[in-house]
Amino acid sequence: MFITNHVLAGALVGAACRRRPAAAFALGFASHVLMDLTPHWGDATLDRDGFYRVARRDGLLGLAVFAAVVAAAGPTRRSVLAGVVGACLLDVDKPCEHLLGIRPFPAWLDRFHAAIQTEAPRFVWTEVLAGLLGATADTVVFRRVRARGLR
Ligand SMILES: [Zn+2]
Repeated sequence: MFITNHVLAGALVGAACRRRPAAAFALGFASHVLMDLTPHWGDATLDRDGFYRVARRDGLLGLAVFAAVVAAAGPTRRSVLAGVVGACLLDVDKPCEHLLGIRPFPAWLDRFHAAIQTEAPRFVWTEVLAGLLGATADTVVFRRVRARGLR
């Protein structure tokens, strides 16, 4: 699934686990697995350049969303950071391979991550729906967090 959607989900998990960053990290990681199990966009016909063209746009949007949720997280910031890191960790392999030429995870974890994917171009609607729901939920939650100063 797009990293942007993993960021949005990890931020929600972090807000829900305020004051428990370790739980936020673990649940963020679990959210990644659940989201990757959901049918989502992928296109096996894309060549390497085509894949990285999509990944670059998604990565930049994900970074912008990351900055926005961290700025909005207020008193839940530590847990939100932990939730987002947990939610995005499994996809660190792609930029590591592309930019550094290394595969950071053991082969068994790469095989697991690849095996849980259900990808096809027609599942782009899942990405769009997840993005809209995630952005809406994050906006509502972080407005409440900031308005109430939840601690
Ligand atoms: Zn993944």
